[in-house]
Amino acid sequence: MTERIVGPAGSLAAENVRRIRELRGLTKKALSERTSTAGCPIPPLGISRIEKGERRIDVDDLLVLAQALQVPYAQLIEPPPPCASCQGAPPIGFSCLACGATAEGEANA
Ligand SMILES: [Zn+2]
Repeated sequence: MTERIVGPAGSLAAENVRRIRELRGLTKKALSERTSTAGCPIPPLGISRIEKGERRIDVDDLLVLAQALQVPYAQLIEPPPPCASCQGAPPIGFSCLACGATAEGEANA
């Protein structure tokens, strides 16, 4: 039941969801509530599974997640843009509020 069904774009989207959710300061429950408000509810467990690459993000998920995270949907399927404020390399121990880059050495596959 834990087979990996997510391809490279899906993995990137999963990382982006987690990155942008944390950037927004949202818990999985809070993000879940936003997807409910947007009319396409994803339960907290579903968000957890999406972020772990255990659940494929379909187009409806993508659109509602983008709406809930307040980003253009394309931003969820693209690598984080090079950032004018930190050049993708914020000071050690800090996360860039503009692009979400982190210098804490967190394991991002
Ligand atoms: Zn940045």
